[in-house]
Amino acid sequence: MAIRLHRGGGFESDEGERLALECPYCSVYANMSPQAIPHVAELLETRPKHVGLVYRCDACNAPVFLRFAVKEFSEDSIELNRNFHELERPAERFPLSYLPDETAALFREALSCYSNNNFNAFASMCRRAAASAFRTLGEGSRLQAFEEVLVAQDIAGIDDEAFAPVKAVIFNAGEEELPMLDRIQAGVLLEVMKDLFYQCFVRRGKLSRALKVRQFFVRGADDGLAAPA
Ligand SMILES: [Zn+2]
Repeated sequence: MAIRLHRGGGFESDEGERLALECPYCSVYANMSPQAIPHVAELLETRPKHVGLVYRCDACNAPVFLRFAVKEFSEDSIELNRNFHELERPAERFPLSYLPDETAALFREALSCYSNNNFNAFASMCRRAAASAFRTLGEGSRLQAFEEVLVAQDIAGIDDEAFAPVKAVIFNAGEEELPMLDRIQAGVLLEVMKDLFYQCFVRRGKLSRALKVRQFFVRGADDGLAAPA
């Protein structure tokens, strides 16, 4: 998605004017339309390294600020790098109360790194959170988790090459240096980690709580007590 800004206010993008991302206000993955574009003549004069654009969220109309690195200045236009920096990001959430204490503390920090665009710090914390989870779950859990992650890869239809860094972060602690992740790879890692922890802890925790409540009501009925409605 190359974006070009032309002298006189023209805006041109290979993929149309709009782009899609998760809105920091309404948390909907929505299309964003350009709302405020800086004066191109002034940019051509001052030649900054970065340019800020304001987009409007199509779902909630909130202004969303994005910063682009300048790729190239030409006489009458500026080409912006396709990667942009989101100045405000939605806070990532997860039901941490279902995780063991140490894993929850590490994953909370991982989510905070992700929300603040610190994607490689996020990867480091994911590796620590995963290692902590495998320690708690005991022998065999790493292999079981690996199979869960392969299922996630298959569902998402991501090829092996693109998925390799995600697997390396989660499973190769002590064997391999952490790979460098970009924004897209970090996003994939985030979803895989959430799914993995959901399968390992949240699903089990929710089911066991629900079953305990059922058993309580059944026992109450057997003892001749009226079960609450
Ligand atoms: Zn929105």
